[in-house]
Amino acid sequence: MTILVRPDLDALPLYQQLPTTARVQLSNNETAFPPLPRVAAALAEGLEHINRYPPVSPHAVATHLAEHLRVPAGSVAVGAGSATLLLQLMQAVVHGPSSIVYPWRSFEAYPILVRVAGAEPRPVPLAGDLTHDLDAMLAAVTPTTRMIIICNPNNPTGTALHREALAKFLAATPDHVVVVLDEAYHEFVTDPDIPDGLELVREAAGRGNLVSLRTFSKAYGLAGLRIGYCAGPVNLIQAVTKVGVPFSVSTLAETAALISLDSADELAERCRLVRTERDRVGAGLHALGHEFVPSQGNFLWLPLADRAAAFASHCMADGVMVRPFAGEGVRVTIGNPADNDAFLAVARTFATG
Ligand SMILES: *Cc1c(COP(=O)(O)O)cnc(C)c1O
Repeated sequence: MTILVRPDLDALPLYQQLPTTARVQLSNNETAFPPLPRVAAALAEGLEHINRYPPVSPHAVATHLAEHLRVPAGSVAVGAGSATLLLQLMQAVVHGPSSIVYPWRSFEAYPILVRVAGAEPRPVPLAGDLTHDLDAMLAAVTPTTRMIIICNPNNPTGTALHREALAKFLAATPDHVVVVLDEAYHEFVTDPDIPDGLELVREAAGRGNLVSLRTFSKAYGLAGLRIGYCAGPVNLIQAVTKVGVPFSVSTLAETAALISLDSADELAERCRLVRTERDRVGAGLHALGHEFVPSQGNFLWLPLADRAAAFASHCMADGVMVRPFAGEGVRVTIGNPADNDAFLAVARTFATG
């Protein structure tokens, strides 16, 4: 007997993760810092209670977050990472023939999650300056479109949309389409013209069609714990909570998230350091004659085109792992100062041609 597996999954690639054994790990956009001391202490204490289930759904954290973020009660959902929440958002809106519009090149999970959710992927190529092509994205919307994803700042290019462009886009988006603003890197933004999605959600006061998607994996340094949240219209958030797998957010992750929210000063200091290093690495690359795209995230994009793979191998030969996208470019995470020095040293020995 042959087990009948969904035939549409045949076309689905597995998520590609590079090995994580390199001397210098700059391929995953993680933060180089260990957890905040108070988080580490609370996790150690929490370990003693992991024989107990967490709450069925992370209601307490969601309620606390709504207050903390000054958005209406019931407009926040918490999940096991923002990628998991994105799938829940899709599951909450996909029904019948459905399509989802997203930018490309962007976060590699998008096309996979769209297919898993049973929707048709509608990738829209980035504009020439590597920002979202908002007009083309609007033009890709059809009556079956359930969601548009905006990645701001965009992974892997580091480019970001400005407030005015986004406002114009939102005003032109049909009401039946959910706009998910993936703001995984928002804490690293320095350009004051880049909007804060939570502010827009606040203005919508529990209605509208915009969702801000955030994570504790990047700036907060909790990638291994798996926790993220989204804020948006109350009726959608309720559906997102319904489709969540019971108990999927661990007690430890909830504990770490709550303490992290309470550690704004330490977090701000860490983000400041990353941004300073981002400038320093950029200046170093510039001095070496390497082209790169100014970034609002904790990473830089080198548009190396057909030399991307060679550049990554060159770095790897010296134990520095970066993320190549063959034929397009290389994404380099901003690490701690020593990691960044190691990266600049290998970049120096790669002929810029
Ligand atoms: C890293 C990343 C995420 C994933 O975050 P998790 O909360 O760890 O699932 C989501 N979106 C983008 C654009 C990312 O780069």
